[in-house]
Amino acid sequence: MMTQHLCTCGYEAGGPEDLVVHFGEMFIPADDVAPDGRVHAEKARDADDDRPAAVPLILTCRCGFTAGIDGFDRHLLAVFAPADRIGRDGKQHAPAAPASPQSPEPIPGKAAE
Ligand SMILES: [Zn+2]
Ligand SMILES: [Zn+2]
Repeated sequence: MMTQHLCTCGYEAGGPEDLVVHFGEMFIPADDVAPDGRVHAEKARDADDDRPAAVPLILTCRCGFTAGIDGFDRHLLAVFAPADRIGRDGKQHAPAAPASPQSPEPIPGKAAE
């Protein structure tokens, strides 16, 4: 059975990776500058770096963070996604549970302040 991956904006992702891409599109500005004032983007490998790529692939962020692809995506969302999950289009974007029509939308890690 296929698991649906829905965004609270109504976007239907084809899978968890697609949903992460969607969040990236909604939260990451063109200049890659996060709310913390730093640039977060995959750093291109230096041209003179002739060492073989690490296996499994390790990505380096321009802030110095390194992780595998999954962890890197989570890092980008962690730095770019605002606490209220409101994207650049003014809509809220968060993983939506398809089979819970009356869930009160808990936002992890952030209670009312
Ligand atoms: Zn970073
Ligand atoms: Zn969305």
